Amino acid sequence: MQLHIQTPLIKSEPLSQVSGKNIWLKMEALQPTGSFKNRGVCFACQEVVKQGAQALFSSSGGNAGIAVAYAGRKLGIPVTVVVPETTSAKAIELLKNENAKVIVHGESWQEANELIQTLTGDGKVFIHPFDDPLVWQGHGTMIDEIHQAGLKPDAVILSVGGGGMLSGVGDGLKRNGWQDVPLLAIETEGAASFNQAIKANQPIELNEITSVATTLGAKRVCQQAFDLSKQLSVQSILVSDQQALNACRQFLSDHRVLVEPSCGASLSIAYDHAEKLKDFENIVIIVCGGVTATIEQINKWQLGLREPGFPPARE
Ligand SMILES: *Cc1c(COP(=O)(O)O)cnc(C)c1O
Repeated sequence: MQLHIQTPLIKSEPLSQVSGKNIWLKMEALQPTGSFKNRGVCFACQEVVKQGAQALFSSSGGNAGIAVAYAGRKLGIPVTVVVPETTSAKAIELLKNENAKVIVHGESWQEANELIQTLTGDGKVFIHPFDDPLVWQGHGTMIDEIHQAGLKPDAVILSVGGGGMLSGVGDGLKRNGWQDVPLLAIETEGAASFNQAIKANQPIELNEITSVATTLGAKRVCQQAFDLSKQLSVQSILVSDQQALNACRQFLSDHRVLVEPSCGASLSIAYDHAEKLKDFENIVIIVCGGVTATIEQINKWQLGLREPGFPPARE
């Protein structure tokens, strides 16, 4: 059983026009759970179940947790997701829709994660949202598909949270003999753990996450993502929350698909930073998707309205 679909790779006329380049979209927003997590996270679930796992655990109230819940439902395996009190009602509803048991515990991701550690072991397996070779292996299939389509891009644009997607895309480039393709690794200013790692020449822990792009809010990137920055050509670029939010709204109007600010960050390179693309002609943007932000939420954030205690850091 394959728990992800082959997604469309389409040339975007609106983004090509606005940037003056050929912009191709890899439409991961169309995966069954609304993000690319169907590829790597679901693959990791499938592999551990093959190895005997009888229950799956996640501490992600976002797209990774939803993907674990989806995999569990498809595989007939119970899933428990422990999330902090800051998790939105919408995210909890999405998890419950996938039949996951949801435990709300603690003020931050840290406490939720500590509880998980006491619940796992002995056939009860924790699925890490980004720092796992199985997750990277599965995410790499998006590059396999672009390779099969016969479109070798001059650059690939993608968002970086904990660095699982970056690691997977790196894996995919290597196994297809495309290690010469440059990557543009995009984060918002308030969630810049990869950018800071590049500057410090090692992964370091951010003090806090201040971006509305909570899906990018891993305080530290995985070592693999950092190592890749040495092996491939990876350029780290920061955009503002406003640019990410603008891109979400513009993309909804241009392509009728709603994505999270974590994905808007990558799209904003075509809308607002075409100067970063001057060396390239054919560019693929990974439209990574995301389902936890509504358009009402995006509009509110744009007006600078935030809930108390927001944004919650993922870890
Ligand atoms: C998970 C996710 C990211 C970040 O991916 P990492 O593997 O944590 O770097 C970005 N955007 C969306 C929509 C996601 O679901």
